[in-house]
Amino acid sequence: MVTGGAGFIGSHLCERLLADGHEVLAVDNYYTGTRPNIRGLLEHPMFEVMRHDITMPLYVETDLIFNLACPASPVYYQRDPVQTLKTSVHGSINMLGLAKRVGATIVQASTSEVYGDPEPVVQDETYWGRVNPIGIRSCYDEGKRAAETLFSDYRRQHGTDTKIVRIFNTYGPRMRPDDGRVVSNFIMQALRGEDITIYGDGAQSRAFCFVDDLVEGLLRMSDTPRDVSGPVNLGNPAELTIRDLATKIITLTGSSSKLVAEPLPEDDPRQRCPDITKAKDLLDWEPTVPLEQGLVRTIAYFEESLAASTAS
Ligand code: NAD
Ligand code: UDP
Ligand code: UDP
Repeated sequence: MVTGGAGFIGSHLCERLLADGHEVLAVDNYYTGTRPNIRGLLEHPMFEVMRHDITMPLYVETDLIFNLACPASPVYYQRDPVQTLKTSVHGSINMLGLAKRVGATIVQASTSEVYGDPEPVVQDETYWGRVNPIGIRSCYDEGKRAAETLFSDYRRQHGTDTKIVRIFNTYGPRMRPDDGRVVSNFIMQALRGEDITIYGDGAQSRAFCFVDDLVEGLLRMSDTPRDVSGPVNLGNPAELTIRDLATKIITLTGSSSKLVAEPLPEDDPRQRCPDITKAKDLLDWEPTVPLEQGLVRTIAYFEESLAASTAS
């Protein structure tokens, strides 16, 4: 079962699980997910999708739950911050209650945002984070932190087989063109010949993981023995500045777009780069898709989507 199964990462995960021969139930309220994301799966005999909001109880049978439901883009998670927090807290309680009842393994899609605006240059899982509890990003960050607490307490209190991965910036086909995240924004702006909006001075850094690599990491985590609970960082440690990302995307698209500066959003982390030693040791996992290769595939997806929307 994949909550958030019609979303960006969730749809790739469903596809991969089906390819591996599993029966898959995707659960989604379509807040940021879409039916086109799973269009290719709807006819698959082993695939089922259910429109459902995980803040409400759900009684189904399953042996493995990936809890991905939660908007990940700042534009969307800040549009309804109370619902975002409810999704992480009430939603996690319901999915943990379900896992407890049926004895399923449950994997939580946590985030590098639990580290907030971090002091260490590279973040490993022992770092407790520097998060503003009352800012505009808090509904997401603190929700995900509370979810980690719930996962840890269901394990301690009820013996539930919980696993936490902390996902760092992930990109690829099926990101929403309007989701406001940097990769989708820059590619759409470059393809349309619009100005590329650099927030702040563009010297802030991120490290981007291609979605196929991320899905492989999620699967490996789900397959670990019961005593492995995480958290485990999943991300690509190839760090670069936002300005360098913009330049790369301009080159790859052959765009004539110019860079323009816009104000830096509140609480925007200065840097983000995963230490993936733990994922290497525990899961024998590391990313294999270089940024340029992943960007080329993502650009091709956005080009197709643009062409389709212009044609219709
Ligand atoms: P996404 O917004 O594309 O996917 C989230 C999915 O959850 C959507 O399909 C949405 O409709 C669904 N959803 C939201 N609230 C729900 C609710 N209450 N009930 C049922 N469904 C609900 O985002 P994504 O990038 O695919 O992220 C998937 C997960 O991974 C999220 O939990 C996110 O926090 C986490 N994550 C993503 C990234 C990233 O870079 N993409 C980084 C860190 C963590
Ligand atoms: N829950 C659910 N599906 C299940 C089992 C439980 O949605 O198959 C929900 C249930 O509504 C409950 C929550 O999960 O509110 C937590 O369940 P748990 O058994 O941990 O606690 P309790 O029922 O005591 O609140
Ligand atoms: N960003 C930017 N221009 C944009 C969108 C984002 O400069 O059009 C910056 C943003 O301020 C942040 C970085 O890119 O420093 C990554 O932003 P995103 O929202 O993709 O992810 P997150 O901040 O959650 O890592």
